[in-house]
Amino acid sequence: MRQLTLVIAALVCLAGEPAGQSTQAADPITALLGRIEAAVLAGTPERYLDLLSTLADRPAAASFLTAVATPGLTRVVIRERDRVDLAGTLPGDGYRLLVEVLRESGQRADVTTWRLDVRRRSNNPSDWGILSQEVMTTLQGLYRLALNTRRQFLARDLVVSAEDLKLSVPEATVFMAETEAGPTAYVILGRGEMTFSPAPRSERSQLRVVMGSEVLQTPVEGLFVRVHPSTASARVSAREMSERPVDSRDLKRAEDLFRQESVKSFGLDLGDLSADSWSLLPLPGDLLAEVRTRRFDTLTYTKSSEEVEDISLFDRRLRRNMSVYSSRDHLARFSRSYREDEGAGYVVRSYDVRVIYNPSRRHLDGQTRLAIETTASSANTLKIRLADSLNVDSIVSPELGRLLSVRVRKQHTVVINLPTTVVKGYRLELVVTYSGPIEPQEIDREAVAVSAPQAQDQPPEEEELPLEESYLFSNRSYWYAQALTLGYAPARISVIVPEPWGAVASGEFESMAPPPGPAPRGPRLREFTFVARQPVRYLTFLVGRFTEPRIETISLKHLDETLLASRRPGVYYDEVELRVQTNPRQRARGKDVLRTTANILRFYASTVGDFPYSALTGAVVERRLPGGHSPPYLSLVATPGPGSTLRWGDDPAALPNFPDFFVAHELAHQWWGQAVGWKNYHEHWLSEGFAQYFAALWAERSLGRGVFNAIIRSMQQWSMEESDQGAVYLGYRIGHFKGDSRLFRAVIYNKGAMVLHMLRRLVGDEAFFAGLRRYYNTWRFAKAGTDDFRRAVEAESGVDLGRFFEQWIYGDTLPQVAFTSRLEPRDGDSEAVLRFEQTGDIFDFAVTVTFEYADNTTTSTLVKVTDRVVETRVPVKGRPRRIDANRDLATVGVFR
Ligand SMILES: [Zn+2]
Repeated sequence: MRQLTLVIAALVCLAGEPAGQSTQAADPITALLGRIEAAVLAGTPERYLDLLSTLADRPAAASFLTAVATPGLTRVVIRERDRVDLAGTLPGDGYRLLVEVLRESGQRADVTTWRLDVRRRSNNPSDWGILSQEVMTTLQGLYRLALNTRRQFLARDLVVSAEDLKLSVPEATVFMAETEAGPTAYVILGRGEMTFSPAPRSERSQLRVVMGSEVLQTPVEGLFVRVHPSTASARVSAREMSERPVDSRDLKRAEDLFRQESVKSFGLDLGDLSADSWSLLPLPGDLLAEVRTRRFDTLTYTKSSEEVEDISLFDRRLRRNMSVYSSRDHLARFSRSYREDEGAGYVVRSYDVRVIYNPSRRHLDGQTRLAIETTASSANTLKIRLADSLNVDSIVSPELGRLLSVRVRKQHTVVINLPTTVVKGYRLELVVTYSGPIEPQEIDREAVAVSAPQAQDQPPEEEELPLEESYLFSNRSYWYAQALTLGYAPARISVIVPEPWGAVASGEFESMAPPPGPAPRGPRLREFTFVARQPVRYLTFLVGRFTEPRIETISLKHLDETLLASRRPGVYYDEVELRVQTNPRQRARGKDVLRTTANILRFYASTVGDFPYSALTGAVVERRLPGGHSPPYLSLVATPGPGSTLRWGDDPAALPNFPDFFVAHELAHQWWGQAVGWKNYHEHWLSEGFAQYFAALWAERSLGRGVFNAIIRSMQQWSMEESDQGAVYLGYRIGHFKGDSRLFRAVIYNKGAMVLHMLRRLVGDEAFFAGLRRYYNTWRFAKAGTDDFRRAVEAESGVDLGRFFEQWIYGDTLPQVAFTSRLEPRDGDSEAVLRFEQTGDIFDFAVTVTFEYADNTTTSTLVKVTDRVVETRVPVKGRPRRIDANRDLATVGVFR
């Protein structure tokens, strides 16, 4: 496992290189580095010892040279990355250098970091020598990937195989790229067939949803395959393979395919160390196949053991996943509730972020201070996330000094090389300073489809007033240096903006003041500081022109005793400071929003028994499309500007007759999604389904049972229509391949909410809400999974809910129920015999049976169905005209 971690670190470590400190040819230090390159390449100790300062430790230098000048070196490149004045010398007379060194031996290479102390040796300003030298970090296992153009093979019945994949080419022309241990890449030309048949049931039905059949079988026209040399023969085999003279046309085709496909994976960009194409090896047993098909363009199959879900099929043209799941081996090793940050290697204990944002230049200067504790058994690199557009100016650790970093392009990732291997539990701080242009993100997390009015109704565009501008930086902006996967940590955020701009951010408002230091020319600057004392999953700030906040303090002192009893140790607040800020034009709306927000907050707090934070800022901003976003401590609602002609469309997120649903849904995320997070993408319904159901509960409280029932019916219908798109457990993948986010909202938001409603009806209100509170309090400021929620409700209800969640969350079928009823006389009155028979998969649910009488009055009763056949007797008065099951559409299922 340790080796695996190192290889993963290596994989990203060199995939990008910062522009090195530019040094001029005339610089004597650069000249010295050139002489060191030559001495190491030659491997002669005398040449190296000639470069030493008179004060240097000669035996130490000699053994250093022996260590780094390994036999067989063909090229050595040394590039300076950092230079500081050396302690104990006059300024400019001695330096401590950090250098990166590429050492090539034919097709292999490694990259190391050295610390070199150098000083001037004489009165001659260009005469410099080495005082001491040390290897800091080493990265091994780089290969120059090149197609062997001298050998061509003819293969019969060639087969490339991996779990659930078979690629067969009856007559194949094969070229290879080799290492000293065997081939690592194949170019395979010839017509053949691809068969991909995922084992998990849910993946088979996803494949049916996205392409019409459970097994993908398609003609192929060419393959590029990567393997580890030690497992090459297990992955690529042929009945017969013979070498033949190289045909120049075949070679050209192979080289074209190799050139296009080989750079897509495992490729490294060594920047100014080397212009060649370097590659790492796949892990033993892993496979990557770029499959040229006529129907889908290029499909990429990967078996990548470093991922929990280690098998995937990716459509390169659409840039979408067709299939992602765990192999049999990983299924046995990882539970469904695996933690997506399991392999992160460290946790962030706190963030302290300070940024200057200038809206007119869209430019950000920032500094993030991360307090980190390592969790890997050992580590010599740390990966952090930062937007690609932001340049890292420096990374300094008070414990380890200045640190070198490299960028992985297009992944918003920075890899920090540590000068020493640190062990589990090591605590350090990183101060990351960065700057650059950055684009704000859309408020589209909850955006719904809106319908534009008919063309004839549409006023000319110029009549629409321009929107009040505001700039959002949140979980998808990577505007601060952060862990690769979101985790919980307290934070402090300062945002400096020029007047008249203002800022709100995650946390409790602390101060607004001119920033310290001399005032710059131009508009005055103001610094807005927010503190999140409770741990938050991510940090957000919003810059806009805001009115003075409307403030209300909400007391939670009067929460019911039984609610308080479910609390666990931790910080709970008696009062919440609610601040609402709007664009000046929305000032009037601010009053409504404050009142609504306060009411909703009180209602949710009385349901859950807590509000997780000491404060909440509600911001109303203008956007073309309505939407919302709910970072911790913040609730953002986007509303179309005055004169907008957009209105709600038919969207799963839009609850009928309920204009406040955005505010209600967004606010619920403070509890569901923020205070209680989710363990991996499969568990997204624990955020969206809960927020949607809480919005429905608020609708019931504020608008009455009728509106609630209408909302339930609407959510039931969306669930019925789109359940076949896949299980709730598929998370973002619902609708992903088709690029239709409405399907995602239908299943994750609405079916997720219906699962809660049906659970409530099955176990009863008391156990349901007690279960919610137990779940909330157990997982407050942590990431939860479906199993954790199930256990909480089981503990309160005493009901085994295994099958309930298995069918409703992990399954994608619906109950098929044959319902019959008859009346039998009893004690002068009558009794209804109600019979339910499940003809498909067996589900657990409760269903309403409605009795309608001749005078149009109705009565109803709730029946629990938890078996294939359930028969129950209900006394009735008189003779009902009709007896219906699920007339209220409160249960998802097909009733006949
Ligand atoms: Zn939401």
